[in-house]
Amino acid sequence: MAIKTWQAISGITLISTITVLLQIPSNTWMTSATASLVAGATSLACMAVACILSSRWSFIEDLLGGLDRMYETHKWLGIWALVFVVYHFLFKAKLNTWDLAPILELTKYWTRMVRQLSIVVLGFIILLALNRNVPYQVWSWWHKLSGPFFIIAVLHWLSFESPIRLNSSAGIWLGTLCTVGIVAAFYKLFLYNFIAQGGTYKIVAVDHGDKAVHLELAPIGRSFPFQAGQFGFLSIMEQGLREPHPFTIASANASDGRIHFVIRALGDYTEKLYGQAKIGMLADIRAPHGRFERIANANKEIWIGAGVGIAPFISWLKDSSAKNLERVQLIYCFDPNRAFPTPERIQEFTEQANVSFIPNPSGSNKLAETITGAAKEADPSDIHISFCGPKGLLAHVKQLMKEADIPSKNIHYEFFEFR
Ligand SMILES: Cc1cc2nc3c(=O)[nH]c(=O)nc-3n(C[C@H](O)[C@H](O)[C@H](O)COP(=O)(O)OP(=O)(O)OC[C@H]3O[C@@H](n4cnc5c(N)ncnc54)[C@H](O)[C@@H]3O)c2cc1C
Repeated sequence: MAIKTWQAISGITLISTITVLLQIPSNTWMTSATASLVAGATSLACMAVACILSSRWSFIEDLLGGLDRMYETHKWLGIWALVFVVYHFLFKAKLNTWDLAPILELTKYWTRMVRQLSIVVLGFIILLALNRNVPYQVWSWWHKLSGPFFIIAVLHWLSFESPIRLNSSAGIWLGTLCTVGIVAAFYKLFLYNFIAQGGTYKIVAVDHGDKAVHLELAPIGRSFPFQAGQFGFLSIMEQGLREPHPFTIASANASDGRIHFVIRALGDYTEKLYGQAKIGMLADIRAPHGRFERIANANKEIWIGAGVGIAPFISWLKDSSAKNLERVQLIYCFDPNRAFPTPERIQEFTEQANVSFIPNPSGSNKLAETITGAAKEADPSDIHISFCGPKGLLAHVKQLMKEADIPSKNIHYEFFEFR
């Protein structure tokens, strides 16, 4: 069972609160100074865990159920860190009756400077992240400053007079989280691109559709193993195409290590890739990421892929180790004017995999009919739906599930936003 965002944040808040309370006399617990000290410690712990999550370490993906969930939790940790830090900034976090001392001696000037910088920079980073009008590339550049900023927040904790000693429970809790957080931020900023799993690939085939492109890549040297449905960060080693972007691997593990992507031109980068990708270009791929997994033990599975959202299902169809595929119905939602891959191509894949194929061109009612029909033939609680497509369609599918009495927990999908 993956850890949910609210569980992570409540757990961090609880541990921070208990460990801090243990450092101060109980007759001062119900004061605003205690609340401010707890808020400061919790904010620092949230920032440290947010840094740890940004590392993309695989075992943390396992804990949280995929990179998309990791980024969701990362975002909420940042928001709560800001909420806690605002309270901490507004109310004094010390009492004369406490035994106060800094862990690290800085001059008065620097102690104050580090304190002011902590709140200003955290506020700036979170507000920038939440402003959707800021283009992703601009935001992502500024967001890289979060790592160095975190060191300023740690310095504030260490240099300010407080009742928390490094060898106390709160000191060990914060010290450990901050150390791992700094290592994680350093790894992500400076090492990830060189040592994270992945490899160098060469584009060996390019197939253009209407505003969409299919790329086939062959490894140069070692390839990487992945589970069907996972994705990778693709960066083409050509001017203007180097920025890594996430794309689902639209194929399964192959003996020659080749992998495929289906990419729709939706913005700056994907437009350029659509127009400029050529056979022979080299690519760097950091992968595998994501935990979009089949519910292969379900009595009935419905897979819904809309547009390029068909990519993970191509991967599942091509997976030679897949079992119980006869229980699957694949619904492909597409616009007949620009479908890529074509429904005929997807039908070929479904026939090879023995999966029932339901084309759903725009305006068709097949999606609703299939979900309602499945709920009549099988126990609705045994039906699992895996979805990849736009948010609007996801809301529609959830509504159809409700009408057919299929439990809401039986829908499985990835978040497509890393911000
Ligand atoms: C897990 C996952 C799998 C995906 N699989 C596919 C796929 O198989 N085929 C496909 O066509 N698209 C896929 N996408 C979407 C694809 O990554 C975006 O369309 C692409 O990054 C947009 O970049 P842009 O510069 O062209 O557009 P922009 O207009 O600049 O960005 C549109 C949105 O894409 C996201 N985005 C932009 N740049 C990045 C980045 N460097 N890293 C992360 N997110 C970014 C942001 O949310 C942004 O708001 C996937 C996305 C995710 C998260």
